[in-house]
Amino acid sequence: MNLSPDREREVSVLDVDVPLELEALRDVLHGRQAYRRTRYIVARRDDDVAVLEIEKRREEPLFSEITAVRMLAGPDDSVLVTDPTVDIAVPSQLAALAEASTARCVVVEGRYSYIGFVIDAAPTRIRIVDAVPPDPPKLVDQARRVLATADDLPSIALDVELLDLRTLASDVTASTVLFPCRASGLVASRDSAYLDQRPQRTDWVLVGCARSREIHRWFYGDEPPVIDSCPRHVVDGGVPTVVRCCLLETGIEHDGRVVVVPWGASLAEVRAGLAAAAGLAASP
Ligand SMILES: [Zn+2]
Ligand SMILES: [Zn+2]
Repeated sequence: MNLSPDREREVSVLDVDVPLELEALRDVLHGRQAYRRTRYIVARRDDDVAVLEIEKRREEPLFSEITAVRMLAGPDDSVLVTDPTVDIAVPSQLAALAEASTARCVVVEGRYSYIGFVIDAAPTRIRIVDAVPPDPPKLVDQARRVLATADDLPSIALDVELLDLRTLASDVTASTVLFPCRASGLVASRDSAYLDQRPQRTDWVLVGCARSREIHRWFYGDEPPVIDSCPRHVVDGGVPTVVRCCLLETGIEHDGRVVVVPWGASLAEVRAGLAAAAGLAASP
């Protein structure tokens, strides 16, 4: 269900010295004045927390009397995490915290000492298929950096699948493996050559994608045997997925439920790709 407040002002914190049970908390809260924006109360007693939803007599005045109290998560279901790296306004950060916890409700005191929570976290799952090396893989790393600050995207969790180019190369029976470039740290356990260095032509197998085949044709006038390393060509479209492909130079494309971003995607393009994949996940 994924319940989380929209804004930090919706949550107020109350330290109490009664048991964190509905009856006792009701006695404390009923009739008390609550701020206009307050919708949830995190009640704290020692190391225990509970999350309550309240109703007020009126919504317009700056403060109004609490008239109803509902327990959303009690102390047995809830943990309190203090982590100044967590921005509670970023849904995917809350989802990551929830994923790391076994509790149904995670209350977090995060950056700026703001308090937020997530109950029954159910982030949108997006698969990312990316090539290694480099390590960390570029698209995965960019997606994580985007999600760490994306306060305008829904709650997203990544399922990472890696395509190891060295493993692909180990299937090659020719004496030499030709990789697109050395830049990303590609070293196979056998004789390797790198297309961007325009080596002398031998009997090799290219581990690369369509663009490196085009470049090979440009340099040498033919296409060698190829093992396709493009994540775009190895994924099926069953689940919402983001991949990168070197044939795409700018913008994003769709292949069914697979969203394709450029091989050298900017963070803005990665963000657009994640937003598109989240949209696909939401539609049946
Ligand atoms: Zn490609
Ligand atoms: Zn390529």
